[in-house]
Amino acid sequence: MSGYGVSPGLACAPVARLALPVTTDPDEAPGGNPAREVQRVRDALTQVAQQLTSAAAAGGVAGVILEAGAAMAQDPALLQAAAGYIGQGRPTAHSVTLAVDAYCRQLRELGGYMADRVTDLQDIRNRTVALLLGVPLPGIPRPGRPFVLVAHDLSPADTAGLADSDAVALLTEAGGPTGHTAILARILGLPAVVGCGEAAALTDGTPVILDGQSGTVEAHPPPERLRQALHQAEAGAHYQTRGPGRTADGHSVALLTNIGTAADAAKAATADAEGAGLFRTEFLFLDRRTAPTVEEQIEVYTTAFRHFAGRPITVRTLDAGSDKPLPFLKLPDEENPALGIRGLRTARLQPDALATQLTALAAAQRRTGAQLKVMAPMVSTPSEAAHFADLARSHGLDTVGVMIEIPAAALRASDIIKCVDFVSIGTNDLAQYVMAADRTNHAVADLLDLWQPAVLSLVALVGSAAADHWKPVGVCGEAAGDPALAAVLAGLKITSLSMAAPAVAAVRDQLARLTLHQCQDLASAAISAAGPDQARSAVQKAITRHP
Ligand code: PEP
Ligand code: MG
Repeated sequence: MSGYGVSPGLACAPVARLALPVTTDPDEAPGGNPAREVQRVRDALTQVAQQLTSAAAAGGVAGVILEAGAAMAQDPALLQAAAGYIGQGRPTAHSVTLAVDAYCRQLRELGGYMADRVTDLQDIRNRTVALLLGVPLPGIPRPGRPFVLVAHDLSPADTAGLADSDAVALLTEAGGPTGHTAILARILGLPAVVGCGEAAALTDGTPVILDGQSGTVEAHPPPERLRQALHQAEAGAHYQTRGPGRTADGHSVALLTNIGTAADAAKAATADAEGAGLFRTEFLFLDRRTAPTVEEQIEVYTTAFRHFAGRPITVRTLDAGSDKPLPFLKLPDEENPALGIRGLRTARLQPDALATQLTALAAAQRRTGAQLKVMAPMVSTPSEAAHFADLARSHGLDTVGVMIEIPAAALRASDIIKCVDFVSIGTNDLAQYVMAADRTNHAVADLLDLWQPAVLSLVALVGSAAADHWKPVGVCGEAAGDPALAAVLAGLKITSLSMAAPAVAAVRDQLARLTLHQCQDLASAAISAAGPDQARSAVQKAITRHP
């Protein structure tokens, strides 16, 4: 089978599928003795409450929500409602669905905070029904052994708990090279293949060999092949270079890491990298229903900044909306959210959220002395860039930049860069908007190939604009972590590359094997290629001439 290899590495393990919530069957035979069935529901709800309480005890920002969920599972009215349906002769599991649905309707009618509890209640339903029917609990499986996680696709919410599971690789039927599964896999250093439709046929326990570089997956490999792959996986790759990113002739290209949580920061800080080039702060608050307070934010930024003491850390203000909804911002439903209120545009509706975040960042910087840089996502025009820069500076933040991920911003990079101290190119979104290809839509994933020459042409424009103004220009999209493409970016005047920590060593090794002039030649070859495949192979061919 094959898909897009989006996070390199080889993994050999049996498959475990992401369990989806089951739907209950209204026509299933009723469970017999009603009193016994009500007791089964009571026991299941108690067990769910215990699960949620122990998950809450594990800490993290979701703790309060999980505790609230545990209290809801223990609400006698919920059991009573389910008992009522059982008394009417309805099947047991379906009675729980009916009881929860009725509650959800009431909560939706109440609106506001109450309506926000609907997802928690549905989670309780899914867990309770799974227990009653004896099927796997929805979410990341816990088979008690290493496994390759297989799913149709993974949303940021599905992946809670992935970091401390035994997953050794990710394989999804949908998804493309710049989707969130790809990003997450790289952050966690897990080999991953996405967009592999044939993975739908894989059942739990099937042994597979997954190659996150080539995008191939072998099911039921013969024993000899398995032995060879296990050996290869253990040997891993050995890189020669250490320290700052440099070409063979000493031109420096700073190598930075992308982080999403304070825990990521702790891990990424141990990598041999020069700092953090993208702190995706929205990842901290994906499950929040109420806005994080200034104190809470100061706390979490302080922790992250301390991990990077002595090295620069670039924080991106909340990139909420579209594929990263933040429930507490209560953004309106939109027909076309990727083109609507997201990133910096959320400040049009909720200016306080941005002001609170800037206040917290400035306070955490004062507390830690961090070498902080702050940038805004989804900036379209020079006037938006200027407005953000003024706002951030008025909060006491002195190194301010913006992301270039909208074609208009790339085309006007020269005007934008005048208003800010640096720019950072988000190639994931830039590709989405240049190619008019939704990064969450598997059907157009080929258009989002990181090597699209049209995207590279815009990167070249931004690189030159920044160089003309003597200002730094980074790339913090997934393109930065592909070693050959990183060399192309260096040739396009990019001064820093920010990527998931596990990718840094391979990129550093690649840069060290080429002179700046050779990187420029690679860049010309890639940009003048007819398409992404031709760009990739022209560059690969040229690179093998400079081993
Ligand atoms: C990007 O768009 O390239 C980027 C780095 O931001 P995100 O992937 O978080 O949208
Ligand atoms: Mg982006």
